[in-house]
Amino acid sequence: MCKICDAAPSGDLLSPKASHDAGRRGFLKGAAGLGAGAATVGLAANASAAAKAVSGNLTAARTLTGYGVPAGGGAVRAIPLERRALGPRDVAIETMYCGVCHSDIHTIRGEWGPVRGTTVPGHEIVGRVVGVGAQVTRFRVGDTAGVGCMVDSCGTCANCTADLEQYCLNGATWTYGSKADVPGGVTQGGWSQGVTVTEHFAIRMPQTGNLAAMAPLLCAGVTTFSPLHHWNIARGMRVGVVGIGGLGHLAVKLAAAEGADVTMFTTSQGKLADAATLGAKEAVLTGDAGAMQAHAGRYDLIISTIPESYAVAPYASLLALDGTLVSVGTPLELQNVMGGSLWGQRRSLASSLIGGIAETQRVIDYCGARRITADIEMIKPDQIEAAIARVKGKDVRYRFVIDLT
Ligand SMILES: [Zn+2]
Ligand SMILES: [Zn+2]
Repeated sequence: MCKICDAAPSGDLLSPKASHDAGRRGFLKGAAGLGAGAATVGLAANASAAAKAVSGNLTAARTLTGYGVPAGGGAVRAIPLERRALGPRDVAIETMYCGVCHSDIHTIRGEWGPVRGTTVPGHEIVGRVVGVGAQVTRFRVGDTAGVGCMVDSCGTCANCTADLEQYCLNGATWTYGSKADVPGGVTQGGWSQGVTVTEHFAIRMPQTGNLAAMAPLLCAGVTTFSPLHHWNIARGMRVGVVGIGGLGHLAVKLAAAEGADVTMFTTSQGKLADAATLGAKEAVLTGDAGAMQAHAGRYDLIISTIPESYAVAPYASLLALDGTLVSVGTPLELQNVMGGSLWGQRRSLASSLIGGIAETQRVIDYCGARRITADIEMIKPDQIEAAIARVKGKDVRYRFVIDLT
């Protein structure tokens, strides 16, 4: 539940945006002074507002099926999942499609730390709106909506007010695995029949088109779109994309859409032939020392999507003068960062985490207008384990999407 907004007394509401902010401020103030009591008052005050607000029978928490793992990990299985009752600022979404992101796999396999509780991953969610709270202005029942990697943030810090909720100074609430005022106390993601999110964190999607293939834009798309534009992608810019999986293949498409001169760097011989289709002018096998040497010093910008700890130096040496390598695929150690591989050409090593909500909307609108989608392979929930094994074996072109219709 968006306890932050929901704690706002309805009499304070001036406009949707103002009320959202006022609600968040009110909650933070209350939470700081009163601890758990403030949230309890907020919830009680909300019950009647929510009852009036709801379109559809969503006034009570509902139990759905999710697909995830129990505490400690294990094979993916069906798990009953409780979703909160609809609050006045909430949008309830029935999931149609959800991508299988590498971070989902890292999380449920315990590769980014132990699996502490039941975990239903999934943050590339597209579905149909089945309920809206009374104060929701941007969605109606029947609309198509998306949810990416975040479902809440403080809304008041310098980064949130600059549309950079992913860098919320009070900590963003991630779509799964974050402590929050929801049934079970921890957010659960989109490998499930439905999600409920506060309106600000729902993305408007086209009503028609290949919605399943747009789902990966909500994480993989914005994760690569954001650094490309932050580092001023432009026509003719030499861009290298390292790692051609879910993120990388979209990075190639998005850079090519801006007229960049794109080279893809891959460990997979079999992916070289996809270069032209994706929009790359060249493709290089990273294991081919001669080819890597031949491309040294050429790139203005490199987006590295390698999903595990890796040695940076071989890729830094690909950069031209003042070039930047942006690592977006892993929170783990960036190894072997040699000062000399950077200073010789005044190179920069940087990183970037997904994108804000406004930017996520921008990538959806951008790709919708240009008909850019992910290359996907659709699976049913009982095929998730097999799909994970194939992702681990680099055997997917290029994103699995779960069909939950
Ligand atoms: Zn992701
Ligand atoms: Zn914030």
